[in-house]
Amino acid sequence: MADQRREQGDGRDLRQDARDVPPGQGRAALPEEARAWEALVATARRTVADGLVVGTSGNVSVRVGDTVLVTPSGVPYDRLGPADITGVALDGRQVLGTLVPTSELPMHLAIHRSTDARAVVHTHAVHATAVSTLVPELPTIHYMSAALGGPVRVAPYATYGSGELAENMLDALDGRTACLLQNHGTMAHGATLDQAYDRTAQLEWMCRLWLTASSVPGLSPNLLTREQLDEVGEKLKGYGQR
Ligand code: 13P
Ligand code: ZN
Repeated sequence: MADQRREQGDGRDLRQDARDVPPGQGRAALPEEARAWEALVATARRTVADGLVVGTSGNVSVRVGDTVLVTPSGVPYDRLGPADITGVALDGRQVLGTLVPTSELPMHLAIHRSTDARAVVHTHAVHATAVSTLVPELPTIHYMSAALGGPVRVAPYATYGSGELAENMLDALDGRTACLLQNHGTMAHGATLDQAYDRTAQLEWMCRLWLTASSVPGLSPNLLTREQLDEVGEKLKGYGQR
């Protein structure tokens, strides 16, 4: 990836102020930023390899100190190399690289500013996106809802890249580590890229499960109660290896 720079004029009015800050020439990346970039690109490629993303839909970010590394807008992940590192400050000012940051910078920055998340993954995964068009909240079909903080909400539709979408998303994420974006896709965050990715994959799987169970004619799936989910939420704190 080399010289696709800030020439996408369409939709810029839809983006927050951060998008209007001219790209910095960029300082040199710190060693930990270079390592984080490599991991970010690997995660972004995994979303495509695992079928959660088609083409250049979706985006990924990871925070290193007060710098947020983000996938550049509209660039296929297999074309990204070490020289394409793209990073912004928490106010959206570009501090690393010259490629245009993801159009969903408002959503990524909203999460990094208001939670202790270190990584965010956004996809247009097909089952999750289908569910986002059907219900205001994913029915509690499986106890893994509890792993995401409780029943997964759907943020009301707003144009991609808009501040309004970021606001709707923050509301939907209250007390949760993932949400759906109506007629759009998934948003998940975590302490690491692997955790944000895994939550995305679990959410897509759970949406597929609900669509599958609820499409049997004449039957409707049993749903878990709030109490059952709360119990699992407690138990999951001790899940896995010590
Ligand atoms: P970017 O290529 O700008 O990251 O946009 C993809 C996307 O998913 C927008 O919602
Ligand atoms: Zn999107």
